[in-house]
Amino acid sequence: IVPGKMEITKLLVDGIETNYKIEQTLCEIDLEKPINPDENLEITIEFYQNIPKNADRYGYYNDVVSLGNWCPILAVYDDDGWHKDQFLPIGDPFYSDSSIYEVEISLPENYVLASTGELINTKKTDDYITYTYEAYPVRDFAIMFSNEYGVLEDKYHDINIYSFLIGEDLEKNKNSLNFAKDSIAIFSELFGKYPYQNYSIAQNFMNFGGMEYPQLCQIKYVDYNDKKISYYRNEFVIAHETAHQWWYSVVGNDEINEPWLDEAFAVYSTHQYFINKYSETDPQFIYSQRNRTIQAPLKVMSKTIRDYEDFGKYSAEIYKGGSDLLFKLEEHLGKEVMYEILRRYYEEYKFENADITGFINICEEVSEKDLSEFFSPYFDN
Ligand SMILES: [Zn+2]
Repeated sequence: IVPGKMEITKLLVDGIETNYKIEQTLCEIDLEKPINPDENLEITIEFYQNIPKNADRYGYYNDVVSLGNWCPILAVYDDDGWHKDQFLPIGDPFYSDSSIYEVEISLPENYVLASTGELINTKKTDDYITYTYEAYPVRDFAIMFSNEYGVLEDKYHDINIYSFLIGEDLEKNKNSLNFAKDSIAIFSELFGKYPYQNYSIAQNFMNFGGMEYPQLCQIKYVDYNDKKISYYRNEFVIAHETAHQWWYSVVGNDEINEPWLDEAFAVYSTHQYFINKYSETDPQFIYSQRNRTIQAPLKVMSKTIRDYEDFGKYSAEIYKGGSDLLFKLEEHLGKEVMYEILRRYYEEYKFENADITGFINICEEVSEKDLSEFFSPYFDN
């Protein structure tokens, strides 16, 4: 690992240089006077970054540059006030509002670029190409590029789907494109339409399976010749990260204080993907997968990522145990009601931030049942 750094070279509020203080990953700006809900401020931040050598969301490794969470975003202000959480090493410690992005990226022309957003212009100057992207509304803007990428593409209705693969594996890993396409198709059918024009998955060498960003997911490079990797492994990761397009990207949530809302939903949705795709051809596999989930732990909905010291316990309780709670809810209400709940939830919180109370309210509205007894064991109080 070679550490990176970020330094702000200029910070303006309405064109005037302004004091700010930085504490780890948080920047607080001193405003001249408080800003009211109906007022606007223009904040300009000039900064540079040295990208670390790091096999993770953010960093370069083996010719792939991954820029996840590179761009400063506005902290969320909600009923609890400003959320000033620092980065944490467990889970996906992010909470963000949807926003409008216009981004210009200049790269040497031998690099292939994957990114959030819709490409609206390219311009060539000398050995560089400048790409202009627009994205709205999205919670973050991720970028990946490599001179080793090959690209496969397909369409689901009017949605363009891309798989960026590390050179030599184009043929070996072409299934990745079908997995991404099937995920977009199945989740659009079940939960509501994917709302953007483009969706990409791109390989890097991160030290975990994958990472979701709006319209772009990082997928860990896999070698299919490695016999230890099971047949469905890569499909699981791609379906899981794609499910986050619904649960994290379009419907947002506080992933620090209510991680159940995105991770349990992504795992449950991944199961739905496999059930829809393989129930008839491989029922034994579907059965074995459902048996791999663990019983929903008590109070699981009240857990925050701060309650966990290692990823093993976090993923067991929030991912597997958390999705078991959604299966229990499905058994309690019936599959059709469950899907109706998820469709209503998606529609109601599209591009907004949801919370667990809001989800339960929708469950009760759609099912026309009082669910306090059902949910209470999974809450702290
Ligand atoms: Zn996830």
